[in-house]
Amino acid sequence: MIEDSYKLRGLRQKLVKKLAEKGIKNEAVLDAINRVPRHVFFENALIDHAYQDKAFPIGEGQTISQPFTVAFQTEQLEIKSGDKVLEIGTGSGYQACVLLEMGAKVYTIEYNRVLFERTREFLPQLGYKPYFFHGDGSQGVPAKAPYNKIIVTAGAPVVPSALTDQLADNGILIIPVGGRDKQTMVKIRKRNGTLVKEELSTFAFVPLLGADGWRK
Ligand code: SAM
Repeated sequence: MIEDSYKLRGLRQKLVKKLAEKGIKNEAVLDAINRVPRHVFFENALIDHAYQDKAFPIGEGQTISQPFTVAFQTEQLEIKSGDKVLEIGTGSGYQACVLLEMGAKVYTIEYNRVLFERTREFLPQLGYKPYFFHGDGSQGVPAKAPYNKIIVTAGAPVVPSALTDQLADNGILIIPVGGRDKQTMVKIRKRNGTLVKEELSTFAFVPLLGADGWRK
């Protein structure tokens, strides 16, 4: 059962307003963020931090992404209801909830077993039901490919070719690429089999691990 309150709904609306001021234009993205109770991903004592525009630790050395980052990546994905979306880096599951609220069919993969098990158990309790996978998302989830959209929520040293291979035609991949501590958000669109790449702004994600990621 989700505990929500007048106060928390108010804080969520304030956050949405702030995201709009920071440049998020897509109303469907803002509406989705307004519908997902971010505070349920926080321990009771830390609930006051839930609607600040900040990343926050979720255990295992990982973070729930900053709301602006979630909104930015989601907006760039140009989600249409029914899109099949692959998320690399399930983490808390918050990003997956936002995508589900937008009507996407979500496949999400997490490398860390503790987070994978925790989130696979928790999200359905909130009524959110993506397809969960455990493993190295730098290799995608080939068994369920192709995907209309792919979102990588950890910083990669390179664009893994497995991900562009698993993108459907007219599909979009959004991925932070660069150093361990700082990356450029890269948007790749597949058009008639050709990849068109666009570089967006700078972000700071935790590292993508695995075969096409960083070594620990
Ligand atoms: N999307 C998450 C959320 O909404 O809470 C935030 C993700 S957190 C910034 C990055 C996540 O990527 C971590 O949970 C980390 O364990 C995971 N990760 C790192 N390398 C990975 C890989 N190769 N495959 C899948 N997940 C990976």
